[in-house]
Amino acid sequence: MTPLLIIGGGLAGTTLAWRLWERGQPFLLVDRDAPVTASKIAAGLVTPITGMRLGLSWRYALFHAEAVAFYCALEARLGRALYHETPVVRLLRSEWQAGIWAKRCDRPEYAPYLQPPHATLVDPEVFAQPFGGFEQRPGGWLDTAAYLNASRAFFESLGCWRTGEVGAIDETPDAVRWNDREFATAIWCTGWQAAQKPELSGVPFQSARGTILTLRADTRGETRVISGACWLVPRGDGSLRAGPTYEVPFTEPHTPSPEALAGLEQKLGDLLRVDVRITDRQTAVRPIVRGREALLGRLPGRAHQACFNGLASKGVLRAPWLAQHLVAHLLDGAVLDPDLDLAGI
Ligand SMILES: Cc1cc2nc3c(=O)[nH]c(=O)nc-3n(C[C@H](O)[C@H](O)[C@H](O)COP(=O)(O)OP(=O)(O)OC[C@H]3O[C@@H](n4cnc5c(N)ncnc54)[C@H](O)[C@@H]3O)c2cc1C
Repeated sequence: MTPLLIIGGGLAGTTLAWRLWERGQPFLLVDRDAPVTASKIAAGLVTPITGMRLGLSWRYALFHAEAVAFYCALEARLGRALYHETPVVRLLRSEWQAGIWAKRCDRPEYAPYLQPPHATLVDPEVFAQPFGGFEQRPGGWLDTAAYLNASRAFFESLGCWRTGEVGAIDETPDAVRWNDREFATAIWCTGWQAAQKPELSGVPFQSARGTILTLRADTRGETRVISGACWLVPRGDGSLRAGPTYEVPFTEPHTPSPEALAGLEQKLGDLLRVDVRITDRQTAVRPIVRGREALLGRLPGRAHQACFNGLASKGVLRAPWLAQHLVAHLLDGAVLDPDLDLAGI
């Protein structure tokens, strides 16, 4: 079998690699090993009810079932914890948002995602909650760094992961060539930087810079994810992660603006009533395509090159199902969902 070439080892490329491995399809994954990427720093959150308007996440039941099965199977294979299932508390931020929630919470489609109300939702001495809130399920968070590192070690041991930079690649009528090797198809999983590819010049990328903080605070043993003015993820080792910012447009991918940082710290102060000590800060860019939930498929005019992109803020939830869908297309000729197919742009 001619191998496939995966370019980029973030959530998209790594998950695609697993899906090919499951099928026994040979591949080589090449990643430039940048120290900070969206996948390496992501909080890894998975939640059914999202956004300022408290909407149900697109196709949540489908994506969630596939994601949990995928990460749990990997935990068993790799012998380490990766996905942490936990309820997610949503604290409402304003009267406006409480009004929206009052209209949504009784809708039948929300019922499977709501925990019965608690007498006390969160410790009022730790968290500010002037507008109330609710607890949602099923949700959790993936330790993305652990997932990427463990996957890389596994694939390196098989000789199908390599550190390197892939520039332009030659396409012949039957294959692509890179580094004197032939591949049946090259799949670009290069995150926001895919916008630089001439073949994708028609794609309305609107990627957003985001910053996440690592901190210490005495939240009195709270183990759930708390989402209010910003979200807060207890890591189980005493540290918490908080974020994110959302900056469009931006120039420098790894340096947040002072305004965005001040805004995040302000939100943290609005959420937490206890002292906070910030110990680290990381910034990277989420790949977003305007008007699309994700982008899969062959590059225009390139029979042997494809892309897997546009995971936005839902990479952990969606990558397992999307990677499976792309593999069925590439290996079996299955038709891509038109909502996701690059050909529709
Ligand atoms: C602050 C922040 C918080 C986030 N929180 C969450 C969250 O809670 N939940 C969630 O689901 N998502 C979250 N996200 C979004 C998530 O990070 C993305 O959905 C996901 O990481 C995108 O993965 P990707 O593989 O497409 O891109 P990337 O992570 O950007 O990976 C692309 C990879 O390709 C490599 N590469 C690029 N070009 C080349 C080349 N030419 N040759 C070789 N290698 C190359 C890069 O170095 C990188 O390793 C967050 C993002 C940010 C920034």
